[in-house]
Amino acid sequence: MTLVQLSRTRPVAAGSGAVHVAAAGELVDPQARRVQYLRLSLTDRCNYRCTYCMPEAGVEHRPRAELLTLEELGLLVRAFAAWGVERVRLTGGEPTMRQGLVDLVADLSDIRGARGRLRVVMTTNGSRLRELAGPLRAAGLAGLTVSIDSLRADRFAAITRRGELSEVLAGLDAAAVAGFVGVKINTVAVRGFNDDELGALALWAWERGHVPRFIEVMPMSGGRLFVPGELLPASEIRARVAEAAGAPLLADAGEGVRGLGPASYWRVSAGPHAGRLVGVIAAMTENFCASCNRLRVSATGQLHNCLARDDTGDLRSALRPHDPGLLAARVRAVLGHKQAGHEFHRDGRGGPNKAMISIGG
Ligand code: SF4
Repeated sequence: MTLVQLSRTRPVAAGSGAVHVAAAGELVDPQARRVQYLRLSLTDRCNYRCTYCMPEAGVEHRPRAELLTLEELGLLVRAFAAWGVERVRLTGGEPTMRQGLVDLVADLSDIRGARGRLRVVMTTNGSRLRELAGPLRAAGLAGLTVSIDSLRADRFAAITRRGELSEVLAGLDAAAVAGFVGVKINTVAVRGFNDDELGALALWAWERGHVPRFIEVMPMSGGRLFVPGELLPASEIRARVAEAAGAPLLADAGEGVRGLGPASYWRVSAGPHAGRLVGVIAAMTENFCASCNRLRVSATGQLHNCLARDDTGDLRSALRPHDPGLLAARVRAVLGHKQAGHEFHRDGRGGPNKAMISIGG
């Protein structure tokens, strides 16, 4: 597999399937997909134990000394921004458990890269938003995605094993007061668990100005947490939402909502909820790898080409001490091996051994 090193501009694929020009020095993988989006895990710790993400006993955490420091995270993101990355999503584990998060957001939000000012967004379980929404907004956090798999307190407690729905709802209120708009609500759709309330979740989100998004389960952790019968395909997800909205859904560009992520957007075509948008992230049944535009870095500085594969490359040793040339060479060497897509199977085969908790989705 040849390493893709750009010496001149060329047309490449970008998220959402658009084709645009990559400038010299920008990151482009062997399938000519430009890297626009970095998902950055800040910690492998979480205060919840979601059933599809990690075992009840939890996972062995990496020693703190192995985690990238705030300074190293800043150096890393500045490098990616210089290579054309436009957006960084902070993830975990649970990113709000990372000490110094607000300072990190302030530092990263100040970065100007090859494509302009970097947009810093975060995915959280919402448990600490009541206290952090204001400081994060003031620090420059541009967007929020909150994970809520049920609006029933008993179910929420069951699937998170430790969470309280009321604290997350209070966190969303605090986010609204802090000025966050268009908060995305991510729900993992699980047949036999919450498939009977997907419509209610969409209506609830729309009423509050949030954007509901539904995610198909994926066979992470070697498929050990994946139950084939629990997969609810995107087509059924849309049917449940359309039923609740009282009108068919039409494919939509998701103007003003669509970020750089893999979600497809659908608009309610008529009726009381006409124009409302819902997102679907369907890795299993509506593969979106052809327009993949992202890389992931774990909290310990391992570069992951793909959520669905275990191949990684170490970046920490190029940050400790900081060696910009070595960092660039490492990133391009790993990227040069990026595969076209995942090999997930609906029976649970084809996934990576890594746990979702280790890479933040
Ligand atoms: S499965 Fe891998 S290649 Fe496909 S969209 Fe996700 S990260 Fe990209």
